[in-house]
This record gives sequence, C-alpha cells and structure tokens, in this order.
Amino acid sequence: MRTRLKKGDQVRIIAGKDKGKQGRILKIDRPSARLIVEGLNMVKKTQRPKNQNDKGGIIEIEALMRASNVMVICRKCGPTRIAAKLDDEKKIRICRKCGGAL
Ligand SMILES: [Zn+2]
Repeated sequence: MRTRLKKGDQVRIIAGKDKGKQGRILKIDRPSARLIVEGLNMVKKTQRPKNQNDKGGIIEIEALMRASNVMVICRKCGPTRIAAKLDDEKKIRICRKCGGAL
C-alpha cells in the first residue's frame, strides 16, 4: 500500500488501542507502509543492564503502526483523506473533503 502521509503530519488514530488520539508522525517506513506517531502506540520493552550498576528495566517506546490506521488532520474539517493534485506541474496534497492544501 502506498501512503501519501509525510513525516511531521498531524494524524488521528482511527483503529487500535489508541483510537481517537492525535499525534505527529515521527517516522515512516514506506516499504511496509507503517509509521511511528509520537507518544502513541507505546509498547513496553525490557532493557538489559548495561553494566553492574545498571539494573536494566522496562522502557516504553513507540511501535510501528499501519499507515491505514491513521488519518491526516485538515485544519478546516478534521480527520480526512489525502488527495493529490497537480499544481503547475508540481504534485500537491489536498484535503479530499474541502480541497484545501494540506
Ligand atoms: Zn479539509
């Protein structure tokens, strides 16, 4: 699946345990169409002790989620889908609902 989402986009989660929450895209893995949203879809990981004084422990990090589980947020209409439009030979991203640039 191809995604028109970009790093830095504000998105709303539409499926999964963080459904309804919003955040900013930190990273996109295009081959798998998965992405990381800041502070969302956190998973606990055990960290091994690095040395004798370090006990290790449990840390929380963001896990990849499917790009299809998020919607980009339009300033005018809220969560929306992205459409592409040619503008002076340049591809721009627009909101599918209001046609405004995203
Ligand atoms: Zn819109």
